[in-house]
Amino acid sequence: MKDRLRSILEELMLIPGLSGHEDRVRRALSKRLEDIGLPFRSDRLGNLIATLEGDPGAPSVMLFAHTDQLGFVVRKIESNGLVRIERLGGIPEKALPSLPVLFCVGEGRDVKGIFANKSHHATPAEEKYKVIPYADLYIDVGCDTAEEVRSLGINIGTPVVYEPRVLHLNEDRVAGTSVDDRAGCAAVFEAARALKDIESRPTIHFVFAVLEEFNLRGAMVAAQALRPDIAIQLDLALTSDTPDMAHRGEVRLGGGPAMSLYSFHGRGTLNGTIPHPALTTLFEKIAAAEGIPLQRTAHTGALTDSSYVQLVGEGVACIDLCFPSRYTHTSLEVCDLRDLERLVHLLIAAIRTIGLDYSLDRDKYT
Ligand SMILES: [Zn+2]
Repeated sequence: MKDRLRSILEELMLIPGLSGHEDRVRRALSKRLEDIGLPFRSDRLGNLIATLEGDPGAPSVMLFAHTDQLGFVVRKIESNGLVRIERLGGIPEKALPSLPVLFCVGEGRDVKGIFANKSHHATPAEEKYKVIPYADLYIDVGCDTAEEVRSLGINIGTPVVYEPRVLHLNEDRVAGTSVDDRAGCAAVFEAARALKDIESRPTIHFVFAVLEEFNLRGAMVAAQALRPDIAIQLDLALTSDTPDMAHRGEVRLGGGPAMSLYSFHGRGTLNGTIPHPALTTLFEKIAAAEGIPLQRTAHTGALTDSSYVQLVGEGVACIDLCFPSRYTHTSLEVCDLRDLERLVHLLIAAIRTIGLDYSLDRDKYT
C-alpha cells in the first residue's frame, strides 16, 4: 500500500488546485474513482462525493479531506510587467522570496514566475533580517510590459500557487507542495479502495472537499446534503520534533497517525473541534488492538472544516485524524508515508466495526 500511496500522493501534489480552483484535482481523483469502479458525483461548489451504501441501521460516516491548497491571486499588473498578488490562505511571508510559482491560466498553458528578492549585494544590514509583507513583494514572469503579461493569459484574479514539486527524502519521506491536504486525499482514496470490498460496514461517504484553506466551509455543504451521523476529517498534525517546535506538543514525524483532541482558532474564525467521545474511544481501542501507535495533539492556531461540519443538522459527531507534517504551509511540507499507511489501516479497521450497536450516546463514554 505504501507504494500506491506514494504514487497517488505524488500525482496529486503535482496538480495545482488553489482554493476555488480545485477542478484539476477533482478530475484526477474522479479518474482514480472510475478506475476502482466507485460511482461518484460532484456538487455545485466542486466537492467530489463517492458513496458506499452499507448497513442502513448503523450510523453513517463521512470520511473527508480537502483538495484545495493555499496560494495567491493576481492583484495588479504593473506597467513594467511585474505582478503583485493578494494572499489566499495562511501564507508564510518569510518563506516567499526567491520562490518559483505557477500562474494557472489553463491546463498546458500555465506560466512560471519567481518571487523577486532584492539583490543581496545591494541589501543593507538592517534589511537582511526583515520579513517583507506579501503586499510589497512582486513576481517576475519575464516580461517588460503589462501587455506582454496579459498576452500570456495572466489577468486580475488569476490563481497562483507555489510551483508544484515533489522530493523524496530518504526512503519514506515526501517533501513538496500541498502535502496539506493531498496526503489526506490519498489516504481517503486508499481507504475507499479497501472498504468497498468489505461486506459488513456502515454507509460511508468519501468526500474530497473544496475551499478549506479559504473559509473552512466547503465540506459543510457536502455534509448538509449527506447528513452523516459521523464525520472524520483527515488533515495534518503539526510535528514537535524540530528544535523550533519542541514546546508545542509531542507529535513526531514517523511516529504514527495522530488524533486531535482540541483545536481552536481565535483570530477571526472563533471555531475549532473538540472530538466526540465515542470517536476518540473507538480510535484508541482499535489502534491498541491493531498495534498502531496513535499520537495525540491539542493546540490552538489551526483548525479544519470539521469545525463547521459538526454544526450541520442536529449535530455531527466529528473527529480530526491526522498525519504528522513538518514546515506546514511552506512550499516544502513534509510527511512520512509510514504514517499515512498506518492512518489508512486504522481507518479501515475502525470504520468497518461501526455497526448497529455503535452508539453515539455521550453518556456511554463520559
Ligand atoms: Zn489542510
